[in-house]
Amino acid sequence: MAKGDECFFCKVIAGEQGCRKLYEDEAVLSILDREQMTSDGGEFIPGRCLVLPKKHVSQLYDLEDEECGKLFVIAKLMAAKINQVFNPDFVTMFFPCQHTSHIHIVLQPSVENDPVDKVFKDMRLITYFKLAPEELLDDMARRIRET
Ligand SMILES: [Zn+2]
Repeated sequence: MAKGDECFFCKVIAGEQGCRKLYEDEAVLSILDREQMTSDGGEFIPGRCLVLPKKHVSQLYDLEDEECGKLFVIAKLMAAKINQVFNPDFVTMFFPCQHTSHIHIVLQPSVENDPVDKVFKDMRLITYFKLAPEELLDDMARRIRET
């Protein structure tokens, strides 16, 4: 998806798409997500919100340092507000870059045994994560450090 008319978040920022604004400044917007997570029993786990840069970029590394800093400062602020208002066990932060071309942080309040908690617990049980060989880890670390 390209910048412009096709980007949902650019429409939100431009005021062409309705939203429930929670915070706004010159560089960052935070909105309440219309889709709120539910527990197995169907009750809402309230407070899921999105924090996005007003600049249309598709990857975190496309932001300037200052823009990135502002984004995370506001994510911290909004996570603290969610924690204060809804008192979840924790507030998880996602960066779902694969679902949209306009990056955004998802702040998801979570409680023990809700779907988020189960995903992270299940991830430890399934085979997506394995202890990597020392040689492979050394090579990865070296390549990242030297870039
Ligand atoms: Zn956009």
